[in-house]
Amino acid sequence: MGLFDKHLAYRDAYNAIRQAGADPFSVRFDAVVSPTEGVINGKRTILLGTNNYLGLTFDEQAIASSVKAVQERGTGTTGSRIANGSFEAHVELEEALAKFYKRKHAMVFTTGYQANLGVLSTLVGRGDHLILDADSHASIYDGARLGHAEVIRFRHNDPEDLYKRLRRMKDVPGERLIVVEGIYSMIGDTAPLKEIAAVKRELGGYLLVDEAHSMGVLGEHGRGLAELAGVEDDVDFVVGTFSKSLGAIGGFCVSDMDDFDVMRVTCRPYMFTASLPPAVVSSTVTALRRLEEQPELRHKLMANARRLYDGLSAMGFMTGPTSSPIVAITMPDTERAIGMWNALLQNGVYLNLALPPATPDSRPLLRTSVSAAHSEQQIDQVLAVFAEIGVAMGLIEAPLKRVSA
Ligand code: PMP
Repeated sequence: MGLFDKHLAYRDAYNAIRQAGADPFSVRFDAVVSPTEGVINGKRTILLGTNNYLGLTFDEQAIASSVKAVQERGTGTTGSRIANGSFEAHVELEEALAKFYKRKHAMVFTTGYQANLGVLSTLVGRGDHLILDADSHASIYDGARLGHAEVIRFRHNDPEDLYKRLRRMKDVPGERLIVVEGIYSMIGDTAPLKEIAAVKRELGGYLLVDEAHSMGVLGEHGRGLAELAGVEDDVDFVVGTFSKSLGAIGGFCVSDMDDFDVMRVTCRPYMFTASLPPAVVSSTVTALRRLEEQPELRHKLMANARRLYDGLSAMGFMTGPTSSPIVAITMPDTERAIGMWNALLQNGVYLNLALPPATPDSRPLLRTSVSAAHSEQQIDQVLAVFAEIGVAMGLIEAPLKRVSA
C-alpha cells in the first residue's frame, strides 16, 4: 500500500480528462491583457470564469496604491499580526470595511478560505451547533471540521427544513450558528435570506452570511444579499473575500457583537499565519473605495449577466435558476462537458469546468462568471461561439433560418 493509493481513482479520472484535450484544472495564461482578456496557448481568449465581477484587477488607482505600498513598505510582512505587528494599512482596511458595512468591528484574514476556517471554528465550540446549508462552500465545511461544534445540515435554500431542524433541538443546550451564502458559487442562486432571517428571529441563534460572491454585486450599495433582502439587522456576522469583486486576495469578517476582537487572540487561522502583504492591503482599500464610488459597475455587471443568461437560455442551453453574475450551464454528461469546454477554449472562450462531486446535483457544469468589464461585443462573441459549438455537438438545435418571402 502506498500513501497515494487512496487517490488513485481520482488520478485515473484526471488522466482521462487530460487525454481529452487541455487540462482544465491547470490552464496556463501566457499573458493577462485586461480583466476580460488573456492569451492562452498563444490565442487571445475572452475570460469568462474569473470572479472578477467589477473588473477592478486593472483599476488604475488600485494599481497605483499597490505599487506605492510595495515601494514604501516592502514585499511582505513576514509574519502574523499578533507576533509581528500590523502595518497601518491593515488597520485602515479594517476601519474601511467596518464603515462600509456599518458595523463596529472588522477583522481581516489572509484569504477568504481562512476567514471561514477561522470564524466558524472560533465562534462555536464543543456543545454548540453549527447549522449549515447543505451546499455550503468547502471553506465552510472545513471551518466546521476545524472546530468542535456539532454540525447539522439543512436542505439547500430550504428555510422550512431549517425551521424543522431548529425546532427539533429547541431544548438542546448550546449556541446555534446558522451559516448561509449570499450567492452560491456553482450555479449562482441566492439564499432566501428574508425567510431564513425570520426563522432565526423566531427560534433564536446567530446568523452568518458568506457574501464572497455577492459583495459589490448585490444591494444598492454593494453590501450584498443582506442589504438587497433588507435584513442586515438580522445578520450577526458577514464574511467575505477580497479575491472576487475587489480583485485581490484576502478575507474578512464584520460584526456588531461585543467582544468580537477577542478572536484576535483565539482564532488560530488568524493568529498562526502571515498577514496580507502591503501591496494587497493597499490595493484592497482603494478597490473598496472604487466599489463605493461606482455603483454603475454593478448595473453594467447585471446587464451583462442578463445578456449572457438570456442568450444562452434562448438557444436552449440548460442555464441555472436565475440570472446572476454566475451563469452555469448544466451539461448532460462529463464527456460532453469536457468536449464542450475544450472546444470553447480552442475558440477563444475560457470558463470553468465543474465536475461532480463539486457540483450541486451531481451533474457537470460549465460555469461562467461575468464581469462589468465585459463589453456587449464580447458577450455576443461568446454567445456566437456557444451557438456554433452547441449545434456541432448536438447539444442545441440549429436556429431556424429566416426565409424571406
Ligand atoms: N466562500 C465562498 C462562498 C467562496 O466561493 C470562496 C471562494 N470561491 C471562498 C469563501 C474562499 O475565498 P478565497 O478564494 O478568497 O479564499
